[in-house]
Amino acid sequence: MDFPFPPAERPTVAIIGDERRFPVARIFCVGRNYAEHAREMGADPDREPPFFFAKTAWALAPCSRGGEGGWSVRVTYPLATSDLHHEVELVAALGPGPDGKGVSVFGFAVGIDFTRRDVQAEAKKLARPWTTGKSFIGAAPIGPILPVSAFGQPGDRAISLSVNGEERQRGTLSQMIWGVEEVLEHLAGYDALMPGDLVFTGTPAGVGAVAPGDVLTCIVESMEPITVTVDPRS
Ligand code: MN
Repeated sequence: MDFPFPPAERPTVAIIGDERRFPVARIFCVGRNYAEHAREMGADPDREPPFFFAKTAWALAPCSRGGEGGWSVRVTYPLATSDLHHEVELVAALGPGPDGKGVSVFGFAVGIDFTRRDVQAEAKKLARPWTTGKSFIGAAPIGPILPVSAFGQPGDRAISLSVNGEERQRGTLSQMIWGVEEVLEHLAGYDALMPGDLVFTGTPAGVGAVAPGDVLTCIVESMEPITVTVDPRS
């Protein structure tokens, strides 16, 4: 196949215990999937079926393993916002189904659904899409994928995020209003899911602003922590 210009390289994510990399297709995100976070955003957590938004695959900022063994990535504070918020999330990575058809959960990672909260708030007010609030370069830092064979089910593992060593978000994966399988079932009701899709499953309470120079640490229990550094705009 020939192209008038070279196709953009497909984003990929490291896999723990595997030299190969996970090829990313689409990025879906669940809104307000933890009750305390729904309340802090002014919503009623009880009556809402799951809803979804997307980021382009090129919003992904995959961590790499540094010299000292930790996983980290640097992102640049994005344009067009003065209120960039962190949302730490469990990410489900989808692979082929057992019979080669459909999909199944390939593994899990920890990630951040970075949000231009001011842009999103304006979009909400005007009943416009969230795209520019949610999808931009560096909007989706992600750690390495831990295969489901090693991680098992999410269960009640802890999920947390700290900024410059101070804890801002903490919850457990069992606090999700809609569990991973339920989320995937709802999402598949809109379109067939495909191997390579990533699903950000929502954030616990405690979201807040980050500033250029901040260093964020994200942890899902039984995974290696990731470090995300927010660089100033050049
Ligand atoms: Mn989110």
